[in-house]
This record gives sequence, structure tokens and C-alpha cells, in this order.
Amino acid sequence: LMGYVGFANLPNQVHRKSVRKGFQFTAMVVGESGLGKSTLVNTLFDTPLYPPKEPLPPHAERPSTVAIESISADIEENGVRLRLTVVDTPGFGDFVNNEESWKPIVESIESRFDSYLEQENRVNRSKIVDNRVHACLYFLQPTGHALKPIDIEFMRRLHTKVNLIPIIAKADTLTDEEVTDFKARILADIAYHNIHIFQAPTYENEDEEAITEVEEITSKIPFAVVGSTNIVHTPDGREVRGRSYPWGVIEVDNEDHCDFVKLRQMLIRTYMEELREYTNDVLYENWRTEKLLSMGV
Ligand code: GDP
Ligand code: MG
Repeated sequence: LMGYVGFANLPNQVHRKSVRKGFQFTAMVVGESGLGKSTLVNTLFDTPLYPPKEPLPPHAERPSTVAIESISADIEENGVRLRLTVVDTPGFGDFVNNEESWKPIVESIESRFDSYLEQENRVNRSKIVDNRVHACLYFLQPTGHALKPIDIEFMRRLHTKVNLIPIIAKADTLTDEEVTDFKARILADIAYHNIHIFQAPTYENEDEEAITEVEEITSKIPFAVVGSTNIVHTPDGREVRGRSYPWGVIEVDNEDHCDFVKLRQMLIRTYMEELREYTNDVLYENWRTEKLLSMGV
């Protein structure tokens, strides 16, 4: 049985727009293998989109390029339909030479823009399928140090084409202090390299509650997350999604333990529509303008 994901708030996020057609939302996950991408996707949508992976036998031939793999699911909540697609990018960062790991990912994002543009140019535009990537979760290895060259390169290549949401993977492997220091260094690196990450928007005349919410979310970026769909028992007898250690339990849905709840709030409950809008109005529009200019139109 699926739990409550939270997108049923979409009609409110969209205000006047029609909810009849349902919504399309595409999220991409990027990061070295083993950082918990599939687990986090399952945790976010509380449904096993990704079945447990069979380990490759040692002699199996390993792919030598980044693959682009999509999974879609139609989910419904309080009468709101969402066609959710998750684009996984296995192979990123896993090779001896990762210099061009970002390339197939840029190509995939641009070809989705291309397909959208082509549909927009059709006479009959009633059945436009929006396969554009609305958010890219970029998983940082929990080293506690700084961004790695591959992280900087990826974000520099992608930040004008997709809403980047950096996250610290497997945050349970760092202490609270290490997380705080690591976040500060990541943000300093991001600023130094002029990388634009997705910002929760603020509007004039917004009420206090909404402003507090934006501030709370923004203060957690880059989100330090823990993923798990396993139910574990806490010492005080509760059943929670989490990870059990000899020294205690890390609770996925406990805001004192990690930023999972805030990430979900940003991605699904509060800003799914903002992510879609920014993709359409800014990222896609800039790409389209540049493309038409380069074609001499
Ligand atoms: P992917 O290759 O990035 O998709 O990573 P997976 O989701 O397949 O996870 C790789 C391994 O890391 C699995 O054994 C997971 O159980 C484990 N894992 C996933 N998320 C976390 C996490 O937040 N913390 C810890 N400690 N382990 C995790
Ligand atoms: Mg995976």
C-alpha cells in the first residue's frame, strides 16, 4: 500500500490552471553508483519504483558509457493524477576517465527540449507530451571535504539547462558537525564557480508563514539526506522508516535526523509547480531563443 506522497496539493500550486489533464513531472537523479539514488527515489515516492538490484557477477561485461534510463508511474492522490518519470543515469562518475560524463546527460536534456519544441510547432498542439526534466537531484559523496572536479564540471555544464538540487548522499555516515561544515564548503564552492542552483522563489506581499517556509527550506540546501524504505523499531517503541545501527536508529522522516522531509517538501509538496514553471519559462525559453538565433531565424 502506498503512503501519502504529497502532490495532491498541486491544484493549489497551480492556482487557476486546469487539473483535468493531470500533471507530468520528470525528475533526474545523477551521482556515482552506490550513493543511494534508487533508494532515495523509492523513499520519496514511498513506492518501489526501483526493484532491488541483482549484483553483477564479477566477470560480467560492464557498460562503458553513462546510460539514460527512464521509469514512469501513474500515481493518483485525492483525485489528482500525476505521471511521474524518474530518469536515472547509471554509469555517471564510475569510469577511469569521467571527463565527459556530463555529456550524455546534457544531450538527453537538450533532446527533450528539442522534442518539446517540435511539438509546439505542430498545428495540433492539444496532445503535447512534456518529457522535459524539471529537476535534477545531484548526489554528492559524503566525503566531508569539498566539491570534486567532476561535481563542479557537471553543475557548470548543467545549471543553465535544468533546476539543480544538490544533495549530500548518505548523510548518516557523517556527524552533525561534519554535515554543517560540508554544507558551508559546498555552498562556498558553488558560489565561487558561479553555479546557479534552484532557489525557492519569494514573492512580494507574501504572508509570514510562507516566508518562514521558504527560509526553512533554503537554510537546508544542500539537503543532507538519508534514504530507506525499511521499517525499523526505535528504542522507545515506534515503527519508522530508517536505518538501524548498534548505537541507535536514524529516522528518515525525522527533521532532527536529516533533511529528507525538507527535500520532499521542496520537490513535491510546495515547489513542484515552480520547478515546472521555471523549466518552461526560463530554462527552456533561453535554450529555444539561443537555438533559433543560431539557426538564423
Ligand atoms: P545507487 O547506485 O545510487 O542507485 O544506490 P542504491 O540506492 O542502489 O544504494 C546503494 C547501497 O547504499 C544500498 O546498499 C543501499 O541500501 C545503501 N544506501 C542507500 N541510501 C543510503 C543512506 O542514506 N545511508 C546509508 N548508510 N546507506 C544507504
Ligand atoms: Mg541505482
